[in-house]
Amino acid sequence: MKVLDAICDTLVPSLPVEASKQDNSAKAKFFELSASESGIVPEVAGMICAWTTAQQYFLIYIAFLMLSTRLGTLLLAGFSCVTTEFPFVQPFPLLELGKREKILLNWSRSIFHKLQMLFKVVKCYTLFKFYSRADKKGRNPAWKAIGYEVPEPVLEHEEPLPSPLERRLVDAKAPDFQSRLAELGCAMLDKVDHLEERNDPSTASGKDFGIKCDVVVVGSGSGGSVIAARLAQQGFKVVVLEKGGYFPRRGLSLLEGPSMKAMYEQSGALTTEDGSVILLAGTTLGGGSAVNWAASLKTPKHVLDEWTSLGLENRFGGPEYQHAMEAVCQRLGVQDGCTEESFQNRVLRRGCTEKGYSVGDIPRNAARDHGCGFCGFGCPAAAAVRKQSACDTWLCDAATAGAVVVTGCRVDRIVTAPQGGQGERSYRARGISSRAGEARFYVESRVTVAACGALFTPPLLRRSGGRNPHIGRHLSVHPVVAAWGYFPREDILPGNSYTGGIMTAFSSEAARWDTTGYGSILETPCVHPGNYAVLAPWRSGVDAKRQMLRFPRTATIIVLNRDRGRGTVDETPGGKLILDYPLCFSDRESLVEGTELAVRALVAAGAEAVGLHSVAGEIFSVDQSWTPLQREKELEIFLKRVLGRMFQRLSTPIISAHQMGSCRMGTDQRCSVVDPNCESWEVEGLFVGDGSVLPTASGVNPMITIQSIAHSTATRIARSLAAR
Ligand SMILES: Cc1cc2nc3c(=O)[nH]c(=O)nc-3n(C[C@H](O)[C@H](O)[C@H](O)COP(=O)(O)OP(=O)(O)OC[C@H]3O[C@@H](n4cnc5c(N)ncnc54)[C@H](O)[C@@H]3O)c2cc1C
Repeated sequence: MKVLDAICDTLVPSLPVEASKQDNSAKAKFFELSASESGIVPEVAGMICAWTTAQQYFLIYIAFLMLSTRLGTLLLAGFSCVTTEFPFVQPFPLLELGKREKILLNWSRSIFHKLQMLFKVVKCYTLFKFYSRADKKGRNPAWKAIGYEVPEPVLEHEEPLPSPLERRLVDAKAPDFQSRLAELGCAMLDKVDHLEERNDPSTASGKDFGIKCDVVVVGSGSGGSVIAARLAQQGFKVVVLEKGGYFPRRGLSLLEGPSMKAMYEQSGALTTEDGSVILLAGTTLGGGSAVNWAASLKTPKHVLDEWTSLGLENRFGGPEYQHAMEAVCQRLGVQDGCTEESFQNRVLRRGCTEKGYSVGDIPRNAARDHGCGFCGFGCPAAAAVRKQSACDTWLCDAATAGAVVVTGCRVDRIVTAPQGGQGERSYRARGISSRAGEARFYVESRVTVAACGALFTPPLLRRSGGRNPHIGRHLSVHPVVAAWGYFPREDILPGNSYTGGIMTAFSSEAARWDTTGYGSILETPCVHPGNYAVLAPWRSGVDAKRQMLRFPRTATIIVLNRDRGRGTVDETPGGKLILDYPLCFSDRESLVEGTELAVRALVAAGAEAVGLHSVAGEIFSVDQSWTPLQREKELEIFLKRVLGRMFQRLSTPIISAHQMGSCRMGTDQRCSVVDPNCESWEVEGLFVGDGSVLPTASGVNPMITIQSIAHSTATRIARSLAAR
């Protein structure tokens, strides 16, 4: 623990000298407060134990053991730990701050990938905890100093309690779960032993129970919710099972740390095995739609053309898909334009316009005057203007039509039975098995829909005996990198980085829509202090704190790449995800091209300082006395220096909020997981209903695409149910 204390206090040190320079007491306290004094170190230790991959955990464990000794410190830190006084070498915790800082900086830029990874993991966890944690009163000692405020959710007294969804909602963790299911009219099974199937190694208990329905939907996110609503509205008995919890608007905390812990996979700390990509995915009722940023772009034409050329003209080439997109947009209340654009979007629009880059509006599933900035933690806005997540739309429709929605219910397996002779599929889906406390809980169904998202559907299929080699392959993630610009003058571009509509402007200048279709778009993200600190380069403790003071006036532009590269998803026997995503050469090139445009746009918008998030942390400071020509010349030199090094080892953090394609749809079972109806090639009656079926990356934010595919998949499921 001493080693972790020392590393955390190097990343976030106490700086009394800096504090005395400040006249403002909040700032003085902020500079004085170290990581260990703020009490976060045990929580950082908890994150390391809970969320690191096996490789990362082993590495950290060995490194910490070594750093507690002189010899180990010498081996990991080299001459940086040598002092002039006997015994000349000290273990890491006994070194003075300056030396510890130098060691961490060396690791961050090391040629040894493992040292870079060590730095990256501990930096991310420490800074995220320090800036996102809140006490019982919802306060964080850093927020006042950095100018960050969390609003209260707007509550309307006229809102009916409970809502239609809440009336059909049941929590699998509640003691009265079984009786609530009966109260809601679920048909209880007399016996469940016929569902204890070939892949379930656990033993039965007398308490096991089950229910029966037409369709069980696993996962309540963008895809699953649409299928549940459409089938329930056609009179089928539908049960939706969601492993996450339900957070009504009146129960939202809006605090970054607690919200991410409650609503995101692994609290937002899910990474690939090598730590190069951080993956964000919602795990709450409504899935990604509950935490996403409301961008509602339709599937671009060139993407539909590509999918049609893959033999899927039946799905994407005709009017059916266009009608599905219209229906989805209508149900979500998608609208163009916004009443008042946020600071970050103004910067993007202004910079692109100045440079002559294309810039367009992003339609949103929210009112034009929606500008809460907190959609990433569930949207707190008033009913009339709030984001239309699956909980506000499809799941309400499903519940109104009689579906039962279960939260806190992680499905372990899809139950299948062998079927002889007819057809190409040798198994038939019979439902699912899950857990409710001590007991096993089964749902017997005519059709089973796996809609756990592109990261969790493949492991579910594998646990259920799926043998298709394409399960979990071809994962696209829309890798994202970012550039930042500091705009101190509020009179020119008012507002701050964390409030207002999150995404309302975008540029397709580097998207290559007219040629290959595989390029990058520029957008703006939702940033709050914890995530901002994780992404910002760390050069020293004092510099990191000074950077945080600029947080509200720093605009971030993200570069979102339509990737050709493909990752894989698997699971350890203990149920931990194993993710691999190598960034391919052409994606790197496209991200570099997009980043160059983002930096140029930030400078053109009037930023006084601009930089990337790469570890070197180089900054382009605009000298106000420069002529425009001089500025361009200096900018060229800067870009040449930084862009070439962007992807050296783990230099630049890569983020993914869009995962797709890991159980892709296709016309040939030798290279896809589901057929054009989204039914599994292996198991009859098992459909996949989420982003994993996308044949290739959507190229734009994928919610509308996923929901539109799910919309027409529901029609096909209804047809298949009618034919049985
Ligand atoms: C921070 C963020 C911002 C985003 N912003 C946008 C945006 O502005 N516009 C846009 O178009 N897209 C956006 N996206 C992406 C979009 O929300 C997702 O691509 C989309 O929701 C994925 O839909 P899905 O149905 O594939 O999976 P999800 O919506 O992720 O739903 C899967 C659900 O299944 C549940 N689940 C998983 N395993 C199990 C199991 N074994 N048993 C039971 N339940 C299980 C999960 O908890 C989850 O709720 C964003 C995503 C994130 C994370």
